[in-house]
Amino acid sequence: MSAILPPATLGMLGGGQLGRFFVLAAHEMGYKVWVLDPDPNSPAGVAADRHLKAEFDDYAALDQLAAGCAAITTEFENVPAGTLDYLAKFVPVRPSADAVAICQNRVAEKTFLANNGIPHAPFAPINTEADVRNAPSVLFPGILKVARFGYDGKGQARVANHDEALAAFQAFKGEACVLEQMLKLDYEVSVVLARDEHGKVKCFPTAENAHARGILDVSIAPARASGCQRDTAEELAERIAEQLDYIGTMAVEFFVSRGELYVNEMAPRPHNSGHYTIDACVTDQFEQQVRALVGLPLGDARAHSAAVMVNLLGDIWYDPTQPGPDSHGHYREPDWSQLLAIPNLKLHLYGKHHARPGRKMGHFTVIDADPAKAVATAMAARTAIG
Ligand code: ADP
Ligand code: MG
Repeated sequence: MSAILPPATLGMLGGGQLGRFFVLAAHEMGYKVWVLDPDPNSPAGVAADRHLKAEFDDYAALDQLAAGCAAITTEFENVPAGTLDYLAKFVPVRPSADAVAICQNRVAEKTFLANNGIPHAPFAPINTEADVRNAPSVLFPGILKVARFGYDGKGQARVANHDEALAAFQAFKGEACVLEQMLKLDYEVSVVLARDEHGKVKCFPTAENAHARGILDVSIAPARASGCQRDTAEELAERIAEQLDYIGTMAVEFFVSRGELYVNEMAPRPHNSGHYTIDACVTDQFEQQVRALVGLPLGDARAHSAAVMVNLLGDIWYDPTQPGPDSHGHYREPDWSQLLAIPNLKLHLYGKHHARPGRKMGHFTVIDADPAKAVATAMAARTAIG
């Protein structure tokens, strides 16, 4: 198709911080954006030109979105595939429902990896208690994950043996799961890339990711891995995007175990570990999402600086000595002055109304020509903010 040019209106399914950054990137380029999300206070909804406050399967709202938008994308991997298929009857929808459907279900995702010969942790689909009992012993110690709707370590249980796996499966109320072998991790990396309608791919520099309590904590880019591992990660990510015939920005998370790369999971959208691209790359992951959506050539994805991104979770808002302003807990706004005084630190707050422990409220990125200095400055800033 010929490119959709500004000031066309673009549609976004989902109103979280990823959607918000898409809105900001699209606005910078002169596009308008409509966001569909049921939450009246959603970070993207409040920044959008129009916010349709409706559920993702509200077909009247989907009709409105399709009528008002020249192309539609998503920031939320759990949007029903049927919704994307429906919208695609009227306007270009990128990525496709098929690609999203694979990424949103851990069984489909791991089966896809297996079918395409892409290295991944040994796993077994678990649909019944008998599946748990018959699970190969090599999967223990393992990790039982619900097949759908898990994120930030939610819907996961570490299990040492069949008995624990059975108890965990019952606690998940018999929901479809995967049982995965627990790998001994050297570290984790991710590749965020964009792929356009002609199949051209641009990878951002591989990021090295540290998690705390199952939630991304710090991303360092470029990853401190050997060049060879970085290249392999990019090659694998590119192969996955091709096999999915993916159009848009996507992320592939990897485990590095005993020096080998294993794909952990894919995200059919920009990714938290790609937030550093906002401040450190010529074109960021959200502008690439816009470009792929509207049919423009992808931008230059190279980094002009090393970067360290640190997530700001609701925990640092929490103060047990303060009376809570409402039922959401005891919290106060952190004092941002120290972070804002650091000249090569960029603070991003998502405007969420309620701070909760573990909730992603914002992040900051330190950029520096010297990667070691970026790490040191970011770690000192993190200590300062709590
Ligand atoms: P989420 O959708 O919540 O990000 P992940 O499958 O990525 O779920 O798991 C979250 C984190 O838990 C991973 O980034 C990793 O640190 C740890 N983890 C998950 N699966 C395994 C595994 N098989 N072996 C070792 N660590 C794992
Ligand atoms: Mg993950």
